[in-house]
Amino acid sequence: MTHIPAFFRSLTALLLWAFLLVIPVTAQHSMTQTQATQAALTPAEALQMLKDGNERFVNGTMLTRDLMAQVKQTASGQYPFAVVLGCIDSRVPPELVFDQGIGDLLSPRIAGNFVNADILGSMEFATAVAGSKVVVVLGHSSCGAVKGACDHVELGNLTHTLSNIMPAVYAASNDMEGPYTSSNADFVEAVAHMNVQMTVQNILERSPVMAGLVEEGELVVVGAMHDVGTGQVTFMDVNP
Ligand SMILES: [Zn+2]
Repeated sequence: MTHIPAFFRSLTALLLWAFLLVIPVTAQHSMTQTQATQAALTPAEALQMLKDGNERFVNGTMLTRDLMAQVKQTASGQYPFAVVLGCIDSRVPPELVFDQGIGDLLSPRIAGNFVNADILGSMEFATAVAGSKVVVVLGHSSCGAVKGACDHVELGNLTHTLSNIMPAVYAASNDMEGPYTSSNADFVEAVAHMNVQMTVQNILERSPVMAGLVEEGELVVVGAMHDVGTGQVTFMDVNP
């Protein structure tokens, strides 16, 4: 008789503590961006939101999201806070890697994460029109497009696509010992890193629209590398 109520008392206490301590920690909900929240964000805060999101992704502490609720909340307008120019690689989906939801990111993606006039135009919409505060050029480790460029692969239209990465292949070749092929893992990573740096420069040089926003303090442009082995994103210098 005396054991059972004591057991239930401790169980009740345990459940109460679990409810008070664990539930609030594990059930952090995401916030859908609105015109007001987007307007209140500084570029530095927007960048920090991406860093925090990647930390949650790596640690497995992603926010709880009701995606259909976000669909409804964003149906009449979008107020994304960041642009992530990424590779098409299946291992680097920006919304997952940065733990973001519907209406948070504008995500142009192309093999080798470079820019051309059309991609720059999309990014100018994303920043000057849609109001994003940060542009991330996101390269990644073990990039097939970078490996293809290193090996001078030719295949249909892909030949032209990979030609956009060749300036980084040649620049990285000047900085290190060969062989300058995909068999050299250090070279592949150096080219991927160089390609991100050169893409950031291309954005600032070829888009007076985005360069102007940077000048006014309304936008930051930053390169980053995603490690496909760990999920970790390492950021480079802001507005280099
Ligand atoms: Zn890639």
